[in-house]
Amino acid sequence: MQPITEQQIRSSFVNASKGEANRATIPELDHLDWGSLDYLGWTDAKRPGISYVVMHVDGTVRGILLRAAGSGAPTNRKAICVWCEDVKATDNVRMVIAPLAGKAGRDGGTIGTLACAGFACSSNVRRAPSRSEIGDQATAEEREFWTGLRIEGLRERVARFIHQVMRDD
Ligand SMILES: [Zn+2]
Repeated sequence: MQPITEQQIRSSFVNASKGEANRATIPELDHLDWGSLDYLGWTDAKRPGISYVVMHVDGTVRGILLRAAGSGAPTNRKAICVWCEDVKATDNVRMVIAPLAGKAGRDGGTIGTLACAGFACSSNVRRAPSRSEIGDQATAEEREFWTGLRIEGLRERVARFIHQVMRDD
C-alpha cells in the first residue's frame, strides 16, 4: 500500500467519533515496509481491547475501529481468517466487532468478522504456496500468479468489510 501519515489515519475513521480518533494510539509509521502491506492493522497500545484497520479504499484512506469480541483472546478452535483465508495460519484467529458508521452505530449496530490476531494477513498471503496448494511442478511465474491472486483477494475482502461498516456495500 502507499504510505500514509498519522494525520491521514486520524481523519480516516468512518466509525469512530472525533474524540476516539484523537485518542487512538498510532504505531510508529516511519520504518514500516509499506510495500508488503495491503492494509495497516494494529491494536491500541494503551487500550488492548481496541484495534484499527486502515487502507486505501477506492482511492481514499479509510479507517475502522474494531473492538475485541468477548475476552479478545484467540479461540481455542482453529479458524480461518475471513480476510486472508489462509489455511495455515489458523491458530491465532479471533473475532472482532466493528460498530457501524453513523446513526446505525450510535444505535448499537455492529458487524463482526474473524481476523488474524496481530493483523498478519498481508504476510500470510505472501507466504510460499505449499505442494498441496500448487503442486510440485509450478513455475516461478505460476507461484507469483498464485500470490498475486491471494493479495488481490485480501484487498477486496477487507475493502468490502469497510464498505459494510460504512453501509454503502
Ligand atoms: Zn488474516
